[in-house]
Amino acid sequence: MSDLKANNEVLRSKIIDLDNKHIRLVRVGSTDQTKDIQLDTNFGGYGRIKSFKGEAKDNWPVNIIQLKEVCKNLSMPYSNKLKAQIFQLVGCDLRCWYCFVPNDSLKPNEDISDWVSAEEMIDAFVNQSETNQLIDLSGGNPALVPEWVLWMIRELRKRNIEDKVILWSEDNLSSDMFFEKLSKEEIQEIVTNKNYARLCCLKGYNEESFAFNTGLNKEGFKFQFERLKKLYDTGMIIYPYVTMTTPNLGNLKNDVKTFVDKLQDIDEKLPLRTILVQIKEYEITKERIEASSRKSLEEQSLINQLEVAKVFMDELTDRYSKDEIAENILVPTYESGEL
Ligand code: SF4
Repeated sequence: MSDLKANNEVLRSKIIDLDNKHIRLVRVGSTDQTKDIQLDTNFGGYGRIKSFKGEAKDNWPVNIIQLKEVCKNLSMPYSNKLKAQIFQLVGCDLRCWYCFVPNDSLKPNEDISDWVSAEEMIDAFVNQSETNQLIDLSGGNPALVPEWVLWMIRELRKRNIEDKVILWSEDNLSSDMFFEKLSKEEIQEIVTNKNYARLCCLKGYNEESFAFNTGLNKEGFKFQFERLKKLYDTGMIIYPYVTMTTPNLGNLKNDVKTFVDKLQDIDEKLPLRTILVQIKEYEITKERIEASSRKSLEEQSLINQLEVAKVFMDELTDRYSKDEIAENILVPTYESGEL
């Protein structure tokens, strides 16, 4: 883990400019990410628009808690579709095999990125017409540069729109930089902002799937939960995300039970806030799988994720009432024997 930490410091130094308060953003519109037909870029290619939808399809459980909480916080009626302005940090410390971001955008590649300030990002956000409610700081791994969230919050406040805009940032739970790089006062400034939420991604439901998905040591699985708990305990709004791809279903029921136990150890109701991420074959993902020496395992894991998701829902059914589940999750109606 110490190697990872040292590498993260080097990576961080290339993607944040503390003196000028700049973040290195990917010019998404100039990368292979444009192969994905849903990609809708703006801000000279440095931003993109993404739709968050609360619709059940493909036999996949869809958690709508984010949509509900955004609408509630902004005092608007529930909508099952919200558009978000996305900015992508260039650089990530992980290399998940299913990542839809091209490898070139996961390192501080100056040919496809540039320094951008929070002021410029908020300017771009308020000047476009597609969305004016939601900003998602994505990547890459934004958790490597926790100052980004702080600078965005301050810029929103400066313009008096802090209460009208929801700010999310993503975190792959691989580092403690939130606590290491920010002062106590800065942490308080972030966690007490009711319109800020953190999307924390657990890379698997057991040690094996974590190691398969990230290429890291199995031990990293438990560190994710330690970090998730530490973040949760600050009182900030958290949405755990989990990817359930695995080549080997092994002791599935038991492993899922343990996984849900771990979430409940943090908060009894946390499993109801957990978003199951269905890994899809975006163009970049397809190309990676095609070139991979583990091609058949990766293809199998895409199939297996459906079974893991079903067992996760069975586990929730054992622990919560129908109403509690229905309040947040659109559950597919599985026919007998169907996944
Ligand atoms: S943590 Fe996210 S951005 Fe980084 S490689 Fe994994 S999926 Fe891609």
